[in-house]
Amino acid sequence: MQKIVSLCKRKGFVYASSEIYGGLAGIYDFGPRGVELLNNLKNLWWKNTVREQENIYGLDGAILMHPKAWEASGHVAGFTDPLVDCKDCKSRIRPDKLEGWKLQKDNLTGDWKVLEQGSLECPLCGGELLPEIRYFNTLMETSLGVIEGEKTKAYLKGESCQNIYLDYKNIVETMSPKLPFGIAQIGKAFRNEITLGKFLFKTREFEQWDIEYFVRPSEAKKAYEAWKQTRWDWYTSKVKLSEKNLRWRQHGKDELIFYATDAWDIDYHYPWGWDELEGIHHRGNYDLTQQGKFSGIDLSMHDEEKDQKVTPYIIETSGGLGRTFFSLLLDSYREEEIKGRDRIYLSLPPYLAPVQIAILPLVRTDQQLVRTARKIYEELKRKFVVEYDEQGTVGRRYRRQDEIGTPFCITVDSQTLEDETVTIRERDSMKQERIKIDNLIAELAPHLELP
Ligand code: ATP
Repeated sequence: MQKIVSLCKRKGFVYASSEIYGGLAGIYDFGPRGVELLNNLKNLWWKNTVREQENIYGLDGAILMHPKAWEASGHVAGFTDPLVDCKDCKSRIRPDKLEGWKLQKDNLTGDWKVLEQGSLECPLCGGELLPEIRYFNTLMETSLGVIEGEKTKAYLKGESCQNIYLDYKNIVETMSPKLPFGIAQIGKAFRNEITLGKFLFKTREFEQWDIEYFVRPSEAKKAYEAWKQTRWDWYTSKVKLSEKNLRWRQHGKDELIFYATDAWDIDYHYPWGWDELEGIHHRGNYDLTQQGKFSGIDLSMHDEEKDQKVTPYIIETSGGLGRTFFSLLLDSYREEEIKGRDRIYLSLPPYLAPVQIAILPLVRTDQQLVRTARKIYEELKRKFVVEYDEQGTVGRRYRRQDEIGTPFCITVDSQTLEDETVTIRERDSMKQERIKIDNLIAELAPHLELP
Protein backbone atom coordinates (compact mmCIF):
# COMPACT_ATOMS: atom_id res chain seq x y z
CA MET A 1 0.00 0.00 0.00
CA GLN A 2 2.81 2.40 0.86
CA LYS A 3 4.34 1.80 -2.57
CA ILE A 4 1.09 2.75 -4.29
CA VAL A 5 0.58 5.84 -2.13
CA SER A 6 4.12 6.98 -2.80
CA LEU A 7 3.90 6.28 -6.54
CA CYS A 8 0.63 8.24 -6.67
CA LYS A 9 2.32 11.29 -5.16
CA ARG A 10 5.62 10.97 -7.02
CA LYS A 11 4.04 10.49 -10.42
CA GLY A 12 1.23 13.04 -10.18
CA PHE A 13 -1.72 10.68 -9.69
CA VAL A 14 -3.02 11.77 -6.28
CA TYR A 15 -2.09 14.57 -3.88
CA ALA A 16 -3.30 15.21 -0.34
CA SER A 17 -5.69 18.14 -0.55
CA SER A 18 -4.40 21.50 0.75
CA GLU A 19 -1.00 19.99 1.35
CA ILE A 20 0.73 23.34 1.85
CA TYR A 21 -1.53 23.85 4.87
CA GLY A 22 -0.73 20.43 6.23
CA GLY A 23 -3.50 18.62 4.34
CA LEU A 24 -7.11 17.83 5.19
CA ALA A 25 -7.81 14.35 6.54
CA GLY A 26 -9.70 12.15 4.11
CA ILE A 27 -9.67 14.60 1.20
CA TYR A 28 -7.56 14.13 -1.93
CA ASP A 29 -6.90 15.83 -5.25
CA PHE A 30 -6.28 13.96 -8.48
CA GLY A 31 -3.15 15.19 -10.26
CA PRO A 32 -2.43 15.31 -14.01
CA ARG A 33 -2.03 11.51 -14.33
CA GLY A 34 -4.81 10.74 -11.89
CA VAL A 35 -7.43 12.85 -13.57
CA GLU A 36 -6.79 11.10 -16.91
CA LEU A 37 -7.16 7.66 -15.33
CA LEU A 38 -10.26 8.78 -13.41
CA ASN A 39 -11.88 10.26 -16.51
CA ASN A 40 -11.10 7.13 -18.51
CA LEU A 41 -12.84 5.04 -15.84
CA LYS A 42 -15.85 7.38 -15.87
CA ASN A 43 -16.04 7.35 -19.66
CA LEU A 44 -15.83 3.57 -19.72
CA TRP A 45 -18.63 3.24 -17.17
CA TRP A 46 -20.77 5.82 -18.99
CA LYS A 47 -20.25 4.20 -22.39
CA ASN A 48 -21.05 0.68 -21.19
CA THR A 49 -23.82 1.64 -18.76
CA VAL A 50 -25.67 4.47 -20.44
CA ARG A 51 -24.81 4.83 -24.12
CA GLU A 52 -24.83 1.14 -24.95
CA GLN A 53 -28.07 0.46 -23.06
CA GLU A 54 -31.33 1.36 -24.74
CA ASN A 55 -33.33 1.60 -21.52
CA ILE A 56 -30.91 3.45 -19.26
CA TYR A 57 -31.08 7.21 -18.94
CA GLY A 58 -28.17 9.38 -17.83
CA LEU A 59 -28.44 12.11 -15.22
CA ASP A 60 -26.20 14.66 -13.54
CA GLY A 61 -27.89 15.97 -10.42
CA ALA A 62 -26.85 18.93 -8.27
CA ILE A 63 -24.95 18.33 -5.05
CA LEU A 64 -27.50 20.28 -3.03
CA MET A 65 -31.02 18.98 -2.67
CA HIS A 66 -34.08 19.94 -0.66
CA PRO A 67 -33.28 19.06 2.98
CA LYS A 68 -36.58 17.18 3.28
CA ALA A 69 -35.28 14.59 0.81
CA TRP A 70 -32.68 13.57 3.40
CA GLU A 71 -35.35 13.27 6.07
CA ALA A 72 -37.39 11.08 3.75
CA SER A 73 -34.41 8.88 2.94
CA GLY A 74 -33.70 8.31 6.64
CA HIS A 75 -30.27 9.95 6.50
CA VAL A 76 -31.02 12.79 8.94
CA ALA A 77 -32.10 10.38 11.66
CA GLY A 78 -30.27 7.23 10.73
CA PHE A 79 -27.01 7.95 8.88
CA THR A 80 -24.95 7.31 11.98
CA ASP A 81 -21.72 5.54 12.75
CA PRO A 82 -20.72 4.32 16.20
CA LEU A 83 -17.34 5.19 17.68
CA VAL A 84 -15.24 4.44 20.71
CA ASP A 85 -12.24 6.45 21.93
CA CYS A 86 -8.79 5.14 22.68
CA LYS A 87 -7.69 6.14 26.17
CA ASP A 88 -4.04 6.21 25.13
CA CYS A 89 -3.64 7.55 21.59
CA LYS A 90 -7.02 9.37 21.59
CA SER A 91 -7.92 7.92 18.19
CA ARG A 92 -11.57 7.41 17.33
CA ILE A 93 -12.32 3.88 16.26
CA ARG A 94 -15.42 2.30 14.72
CA PRO A 95 -16.17 -0.75 16.89
CA ASP A 96 -18.34 -2.38 14.20
CA LYS A 97 -15.17 -2.75 12.11
CA LEU A 98 -13.23 -4.50 14.92
CA GLU A 99 -12.82 -8.23 15.53
CA GLY A 100 -15.37 -9.77 17.82
CA TRP A 101 -17.84 -6.87 17.88
CA LYS A 102 -21.35 -7.28 16.61
CA LEU A 103 -23.57 -4.23 16.38
CA GLN A 104 -26.95 -3.74 14.80
CA LYS A 105 -28.29 -0.42 13.59
CA ASP A 106 -31.89 0.69 13.80
CA ASN A 107 -32.13 2.47 10.46
CA LEU A 108 -35.08 4.60 11.49
CA THR A 109 -33.63 6.09 14.65
CA GLY A 110 -29.94 5.68 13.89
CA ASP A 111 -29.41 3.95 17.26
CA TRP A 112 -27.10 1.00 17.45
CA LYS A 113 -27.53 -2.07 19.63
CA VAL A 114 -24.44 -3.93 20.81
CA LEU A 115 -25.08 -7.63 20.19
CA GLU A 116 -21.60 -8.75 21.11
CA GLN A 117 -18.76 -6.73 22.59
CA GLY A 118 -15.35 -7.65 21.20
CA SER A 119 -11.85 -6.73 22.21
CA LEU A 120 -11.10 -3.34 23.74
CA GLU A 121 -7.58 -3.17 22.38
CA CYS A 122 -6.87 -0.20 20.13
CA PRO A 123 -5.93 -1.47 16.63
CA LEU A 124 -3.64 1.53 16.15
CA CYS A 125 -1.55 1.72 19.33
CA GLY A 126 -2.47 -1.43 21.26
CA GLY A 127 -3.79 0.76 24.10
CA GLU A 128 -7.15 0.53 25.82
CA LEU A 129 -10.44 1.52 24.19
CA LEU A 130 -13.10 3.11 26.37
CA PRO A 131 -16.22 0.90 26.30
CA GLU A 132 -18.75 3.77 25.94
CA ILE A 133 -20.05 4.04 22.40
CA ARG A 134 -20.97 7.41 20.92
CA TYR A 135 -22.93 7.90 17.74
CA PHE A 136 -22.15 10.36 14.98
CA ASN A 137 -24.25 11.41 12.05
CA THR A 138 -21.98 11.43 9.02
CA LEU A 139 -24.12 13.79 6.88
CA MET A 140 -22.26 17.03 6.12
CA GLU A 141 -24.19 20.18 6.78
CA THR A 142 -24.08 23.47 4.95
CA SER A 143 -26.43 26.42 4.69
CA LEU A 144 -28.26 28.16 1.88
CA GLY A 145 -28.90 31.89 1.83
CA VAL A 146 -26.82 34.97 2.57
CA ILE A 147 -28.44 36.66 5.54
CA GLU A 148 -27.53 35.41 9.00
CA GLY A 149 -30.68 34.18 10.72
CA GLU A 150 -32.41 33.54 7.40
CA LYS A 151 -30.15 30.76 6.30
CA THR A 152 -31.62 27.33 5.64
CA LYS A 153 -29.82 24.22 6.72
CA ALA A 154 -28.94 21.96 3.81
CA TYR A 155 -26.84 18.85 3.40
CA LEU A 156 -24.14 17.87 0.98
CA LYS A 157 -25.18 14.61 -0.65
CA GLY A 158 -24.58 11.72 1.72
CA GLU A 159 -24.96 9.37 -1.21
CA SER A 160 -24.99 10.54 -4.76
CA CYS A 161 -27.97 8.53 -6.00
CA GLN A 162 -30.67 10.19 -3.87
CA ASN A 163 -31.60 12.80 -6.50
CA ILE A 164 -32.39 9.98 -8.93
CA TYR A 165 -35.58 9.28 -6.94
CA LEU A 166 -36.48 12.98 -7.09
CA ASP A 167 -35.87 13.20 -10.84
CA TYR A 168 -37.57 9.87 -11.54
CA LYS A 169 -40.91 11.66 -12.11
CA ASN A 170 -39.28 14.12 -14.56
CA ILE A 171 -37.74 11.26 -16.48
CA VAL A 172 -41.01 9.32 -16.60
CA GLU A 173 -42.80 12.41 -17.93
CA THR A 174 -40.20 13.67 -20.38
CA MET A 175 -38.59 10.49 -21.69
CA SER A 176 -41.62 8.11 -21.56
CA PRO A 177 -39.60 5.08 -20.49
CA LYS A 178 -41.13 1.61 -20.47
CA LEU A 179 -40.58 -0.73 -17.55
CA PRO A 180 -38.00 -1.95 -16.83
CA PHE A 181 -35.70 1.06 -17.17
CA GLY A 182 -32.76 2.54 -15.33
CA ILE A 183 -31.37 5.93 -14.37
CA ALA A 184 -27.59 6.17 -14.10
CA GLN A 185 -25.41 8.85 -12.62
CA ILE A 186 -21.85 9.58 -11.58
CA GLY A 187 -21.74 12.10 -8.77
CA LYS A 188 -20.07 13.37 -5.66
CA ALA A 189 -20.94 12.27 -2.15
CA PHE A 190 -19.76 13.59 1.22
CA ARG A 191 -19.54 11.84 4.57
CA ASN A 192 -17.95 12.87 7.85
CA GLU A 193 -16.21 9.52 8.09
CA ILE A 194 -14.69 8.72 11.46
CA THR A 195 -11.97 6.25 10.60
CA LEU A 196 -9.74 7.28 7.76
CA GLY A 197 -6.20 6.30 6.84
CA LYS A 198 -6.90 3.85 4.04
CA PHE A 199 -5.99 6.25 1.25
CA LEU A 200 -8.74 6.53 -1.40
CA PHE A 201 -10.74 3.69 0.13
CA LYS A 202 -12.43 5.89 2.69
CA THR A 203 -12.53 9.61 2.06
CA ARG A 204 -14.83 12.41 3.17
CA GLU A 205 -15.50 13.59 -0.36
CA PHE A 206 -15.78 10.95 -3.06
CA GLU A 207 -17.53 9.97 -6.26
CA GLN A 208 -19.98 7.18 -6.84
CA TRP A 209 -21.38 5.56 -9.96
CA ASP A 210 -24.92 4.44 -9.44
CA ILE A 211 -27.67 2.76 -11.37
CA GLU A 212 -31.20 2.71 -10.06
CA TYR A 213 -33.11 0.17 -12.12
CA PHE A 214 -36.91 0.37 -11.94
CA VAL A 215 -38.75 -2.90 -12.44
CA ARG A 216 -42.17 -4.53 -12.03
CA PRO A 217 -42.25 -6.12 -8.56
CA SER A 218 -42.79 -9.58 -10.08
CA GLU A 219 -39.61 -9.21 -12.17
CA ALA A 220 -37.36 -7.80 -9.47
CA LYS A 221 -35.68 -11.03 -8.40
CA LYS A 222 -34.65 -11.93 -11.94
CA ALA A 223 -33.41 -8.41 -12.66
CA TYR A 224 -31.43 -8.46 -9.42
CA GLU A 225 -29.57 -11.63 -10.38
CA ALA A 226 -28.89 -10.24 -13.86
CA TRP A 227 -27.44 -7.00 -12.45
CA LYS A 228 -25.18 -8.89 -10.07
CA GLN A 229 -23.74 -10.77 -13.02
CA THR A 230 -23.45 -7.65 -15.18
CA ARG A 231 -21.53 -5.70 -12.57
CA TRP A 232 -19.17 -8.58 -11.78
CA ASP A 233 -18.48 -9.02 -15.49
CA TRP A 234 -17.86 -5.30 -15.91
CA TYR A 235 -15.20 -5.17 -13.21
CA THR A 236 -13.46 -8.28 -14.51
CA SER A 237 -13.72 -7.86 -18.28
CA LYS A 238 -13.67 -4.07 -18.73
CA VAL A 239 -11.76 -2.66 -15.73
CA LYS A 240 -9.87 -5.95 -15.81
CA LEU A 241 -9.55 -6.43 -12.07
CA SER A 242 -8.18 -9.87 -11.40
CA GLU A 243 -10.89 -12.37 -10.35
CA LYS A 244 -8.71 -13.70 -7.58
CA ASN A 245 -8.91 -10.29 -5.90
CA LEU A 246 -12.71 -10.14 -6.06
CA ARG A 247 -15.40 -11.98 -4.15
CA TRP A 248 -19.11 -11.83 -3.40
CA ARG A 249 -20.35 -11.12 0.11
CA GLN A 250 -23.99 -11.24 1.10
CA HIS A 251 -25.23 -8.88 3.82
CA GLY A 252 -26.24 -10.84 6.91
CA LYS A 253 -29.72 -10.54 8.44
CA ASP A 254 -28.43 -8.18 11.17
CA GLU A 255 -26.80 -5.91 8.59
CA LEU A 256 -29.57 -5.73 6.00
CA ILE A 257 -31.61 -2.50 6.03
CA PHE A 258 -35.15 -3.33 7.17
CA TYR A 259 -36.83 -2.60 3.82
CA ALA A 260 -34.27 -4.34 1.60
CA THR A 261 -34.92 -7.81 0.25
CA ASP A 262 -31.32 -8.74 -0.45
CA ALA A 263 -27.91 -7.09 -0.65
CA TRP A 264 -24.58 -8.34 -1.95
CA ASP A 265 -21.26 -6.55 -2.13
CA ILE A 266 -18.47 -7.09 -4.59
CA ASP A 267 -15.45 -7.03 -2.29
CA TYR A 268 -11.88 -6.33 -3.33
CA HIS A 269 -8.88 -7.84 -1.59
CA TYR A 270 -7.18 -4.71 -0.21
CA PRO A 271 -3.85 -4.80 1.64
CA TRP A 272 -5.78 -4.96 4.96
CA GLY A 273 -8.20 -7.66 3.78
CA TRP A 274 -11.52 -7.98 1.94
CA ASP A 275 -13.61 -4.82 1.81
CA GLU A 276 -16.47 -3.36 -0.24
CA LEU A 277 -15.93 -2.10 -3.76
CA GLU A 278 -19.55 -1.94 -4.92
CA GLY A 279 -22.93 -2.81 -3.46
CA ILE A 280 -25.79 -4.36 -5.45
CA HIS A 281 -29.05 -4.00 -3.57
CA HIS A 282 -32.63 -5.17 -4.00
CA ARG A 283 -34.43 -2.28 -2.30
CA GLY A 284 -38.13 -2.92 -2.87
CA ASN A 285 -40.05 0.32 -3.48
CA TYR A 286 -38.98 2.01 -0.23
CA ASP A 287 -37.14 4.95 -1.81
CA LEU A 288 -40.03 5.96 -4.04
CA THR A 289 -42.70 5.50 -1.38
CA GLN A 290 -40.69 7.51 1.18
CA GLN A 291 -39.98 10.40 -1.20
CA GLY A 292 -43.64 10.23 -2.31
CA LYS A 293 -44.84 10.41 1.30
CA PHE A 294 -42.64 13.36 2.28
CA SER A 295 -43.21 15.37 -0.91
CA GLY A 296 -46.91 14.60 -1.17
CA ILE A 297 -46.41 13.64 -4.83
CA ASP A 298 -47.54 10.28 -6.14
CA LEU A 299 -44.45 8.54 -7.49
CA SER A 300 -46.20 5.64 -9.16
CA MET A 301 -46.24 5.33 -12.95
CA HIS A 302 -48.40 3.77 -15.60
CA ASP A 303 -47.19 0.39 -16.79
CA GLU A 304 -48.30 0.44 -20.42
CA GLU A 305 -47.82 -3.24 -21.09
CA LYS A 306 -49.92 -4.36 -18.11
CA ASP A 307 -52.15 -1.28 -18.30
CA GLN A 308 -51.95 -0.62 -14.57
CA LYS A 309 -50.50 1.77 -12.03
CA VAL A 310 -47.32 0.58 -10.37
CA THR A 311 -44.70 1.85 -7.94
CA PRO A 312 -41.66 0.09 -9.36
CA TYR A 313 -39.20 -1.89 -7.29
CA ILE A 314 -35.61 -0.72 -7.37
CA ILE A 315 -32.43 -2.63 -8.03
CA GLU A 316 -29.46 -0.47 -7.14
CA THR A 317 -25.81 -0.82 -8.06
CA SER A 318 -23.57 1.65 -6.27
CA GLY A 319 -19.79 1.70 -6.55
CA GLY A 320 -17.03 4.10 -5.64
CA LEU A 321 -14.67 5.65 -8.16
CA GLY A 322 -11.90 6.23 -5.63
CA ARG A 323 -12.08 2.60 -4.59
CA THR A 324 -12.02 1.38 -8.18
CA PHE A 325 -9.10 3.69 -8.99
CA PHE A 326 -7.17 2.44 -5.95
CA SER A 327 -8.05 -1.22 -6.63
CA LEU A 328 -6.89 -0.90 -10.21
CA LEU A 329 -3.53 0.52 -9.13
CA LEU A 330 -3.08 -2.25 -6.55
CA ASP A 331 -4.06 -4.82 -9.16
CA SER A 332 -1.74 -3.58 -11.88
CA TYR A 333 1.38 -2.70 -9.87
CA ARG A 334 4.35 -4.89 -10.93
CA GLU A 335 7.98 -5.06 -9.86
CA GLU A 336 10.61 -7.13 -11.62
CA GLU A 337 14.35 -7.35 -11.99
CA ILE A 338 15.89 -7.14 -15.43
CA LYS A 339 19.61 -7.60 -15.86
CA GLY A 340 20.18 -6.57 -12.24
CA ARG A 341 18.00 -3.48 -12.47
CA ASP A 342 14.58 -3.01 -10.94
CA ARG A 343 11.66 -2.25 -13.16
CA ILE A 344 8.32 -0.97 -11.84
CA TYR A 345 5.38 -0.83 -14.18
CA LEU A 346 1.62 -0.47 -14.05
CA SER A 347 -0.01 -3.13 -16.18
CA LEU A 348 -3.12 -1.02 -16.77
CA PRO A 349 -5.56 -1.84 -19.57
CA PRO A 350 -4.14 0.32 -22.42
CA TYR A 351 -7.45 2.16 -22.90
CA LEU A 352 -7.44 3.29 -19.25
CA ALA A 353 -3.80 4.38 -19.02
CA PRO A 354 -3.31 8.08 -18.23
CA VAL A 355 -0.78 8.38 -21.04
CA GLN A 356 -1.48 6.04 -23.93
CA ILE A 357 1.51 6.73 -26.15
CA ALA A 358 4.89 8.33 -25.52
CA ILE A 359 6.86 9.73 -28.44
CA LEU A 360 10.59 9.51 -27.87
CA PRO A 361 13.08 11.03 -30.31
CA LEU A 362 16.29 9.03 -29.88
CA VAL A 363 18.56 12.09 -30.05
CA ARG A 364 17.13 15.40 -29.01
CA THR A 365 19.77 17.49 -30.67
CA ASP A 366 19.07 16.14 -34.16
CA GLN A 367 16.75 18.74 -35.65
CA GLN A 368 15.44 16.53 -38.41
CA LEU A 369 14.66 13.74 -35.99
CA VAL A 370 12.91 16.10 -33.59
CA ARG A 371 10.85 17.59 -36.43
CA THR A 372 9.67 14.12 -37.48
CA ALA A 373 8.92 13.08 -33.88
CA ARG A 374 6.92 16.25 -33.25
CA LYS A 375 4.95 15.74 -36.44
CA ILE A 376 3.94 12.25 -35.25
CA TYR A 377 3.10 13.69 -31.82
CA GLU A 378 0.92 16.45 -33.30
CA GLU A 379 -1.00 13.93 -35.38
CA LEU A 380 -1.52 11.25 -32.73
CA LYS A 381 -2.52 13.61 -29.91
CA ARG A 382 -5.69 14.51 -31.75
CA LYS A 383 -6.85 10.91 -31.29
CA PHE A 384 -5.08 9.62 -28.19
CA VAL A 385 -3.47 10.82 -24.97
CA VAL A 386 0.12 11.30 -26.05
CA GLU A 387 3.21 12.61 -24.31
CA TYR A 388 6.34 13.93 -25.99
CA ASP A 389 9.40 13.02 -23.94
CA GLU A 390 13.01 13.85 -24.87
CA GLN A 391 14.66 14.02 -21.42
CA GLY A 392 17.42 11.51 -20.60
CA THR A 393 18.42 8.21 -22.18
CA VAL A 394 15.80 6.12 -23.94
CA GLY A 395 16.15 3.46 -21.23
CA ARG A 396 15.27 5.97 -18.54
CA ARG A 397 12.40 7.32 -20.55
CA TYR A 398 11.00 3.77 -20.93
CA ARG A 399 11.23 3.29 -17.14
CA ARG A 400 9.46 6.58 -16.54
CA GLN A 401 6.62 5.65 -18.86
CA ASP A 402 6.43 2.13 -17.39
CA GLU A 403 5.86 3.56 -13.94
CA ILE A 404 2.78 5.48 -15.05
CA GLY A 405 1.54 2.56 -17.13
CA THR A 406 2.03 3.95 -20.66
CA PRO A 407 1.28 0.95 -22.87
CA PHE A 408 3.14 2.10 -26.00
CA CYS A 409 6.39 4.01 -26.54
CA ILE A 410 7.26 5.11 -30.05
CA THR A 411 10.92 5.73 -30.72
CA VAL A 412 12.00 7.87 -33.62
CA ASP A 413 15.59 7.18 -34.78
CA SER A 414 17.85 7.68 -37.77
CA GLN A 415 16.25 4.79 -39.63
CA THR A 416 12.93 6.68 -39.41
CA LEU A 417 14.41 9.36 -41.66
CA GLU A 418 15.37 6.75 -44.24
CA ASP A 419 12.30 4.50 -44.42
CA GLU A 420 9.50 6.25 -42.46
CA THR A 421 9.29 3.52 -39.85
CA VAL A 422 9.36 3.83 -36.04
CA THR A 423 9.82 1.39 -33.19
CA ILE A 424 6.83 0.58 -31.02
CA ARG A 425 7.68 -0.86 -27.63
CA GLU A 426 4.94 -2.61 -25.70
CA ARG A 427 5.01 -2.03 -21.93
CA ASP A 428 4.38 -5.48 -20.41
CA SER A 429 6.37 -7.68 -22.80
CA MET A 430 8.87 -4.91 -23.68
CA LYS A 431 8.79 -6.32 -27.21
CA GLN A 432 9.79 -3.90 -29.92
CA GLU A 433 8.50 -3.84 -33.45
CA ARG A 434 9.17 -1.58 -36.41
CA ILE A 435 6.18 -0.25 -38.23
CA LYS A 436 5.39 2.35 -40.87
CA ILE A 437 4.37 5.76 -39.53
CA ASP A 438 1.33 5.62 -41.81
CA ASN A 439 0.13 2.46 -40.07
CA LEU A 440 0.42 3.79 -36.49
CA ILE A 441 -3.20 4.81 -36.00
CA ALA A 442 -4.62 1.63 -37.50
CA GLU A 443 -2.24 -0.46 -35.40
CA LEU A 444 -2.83 1.32 -32.07
CA ALA A 445 -6.50 2.33 -32.17
CA PRO A 446 -7.93 -1.15 -31.44
CA HIS A 447 -5.95 -1.25 -28.18
CA LEU A 448 -6.67 2.30 -27.09
CA GLU A 449 -10.33 2.83 -27.83
CA LEU A 450 -12.70 2.14 -24.92
CA PRO A 451 -14.29 -1.30 -25.29
P1 ATP B 1 -18.36 1.09 3.74
O1 ATP B 1 -19.21 0.45 4.81
O2 ATP B 1 -17.36 0.17 3.13
O3 ATP B 1 -17.81 2.42 4.07
P2 ATP B 1 -20.91 1.73 2.61
O4 ATP B 1 -21.66 0.45 2.74
O5 ATP B 1 -21.15 2.83 3.53
O6 ATP B 1 -19.33 1.41 2.52
P3 ATP B 1 -22.43 2.59 0.35
O7 ATP B 1 -23.19 3.57 1.11
O8 ATP B 1 -23.09 1.31 -0.06
O9 ATP B 1 -21.07 2.26 1.12
O10 ATP B 1 -21.78 3.30 -0.92
C1 ATP B 1 -21.61 2.68 -2.16
C2 ATP B 1 -20.16 2.73 -2.60
O11 ATP B 1 -19.62 4.02 -2.46
C3 ATP B 1 -19.25 1.83 -1.78
O12 ATP B 1 -19.28 0.52 -2.29
C4 ATP B 1 -17.92 2.48 -2.00
O13 ATP B 1 -17.31 2.05 -3.21
C5 ATP B 1 -18.25 3.94 -2.12
N1 ATP B 1 -18.00 4.63 -0.85
C6 ATP B 1 -18.80 4.69 0.23
N2 ATP B 1 -18.25 5.42 1.21
C7 ATP B 1 -17.06 5.85 0.75
C8 ATP B 1 -16.02 6.66 1.28
N3 ATP B 1 -16.12 7.21 2.48
N4 ATP B 1 -14.93 6.88 0.53
C9 ATP B 1 -14.81 6.35 -0.70
N5 ATP B 1 -15.76 5.58 -1.27
C10 ATP B 1 -16.88 5.34 -0.56
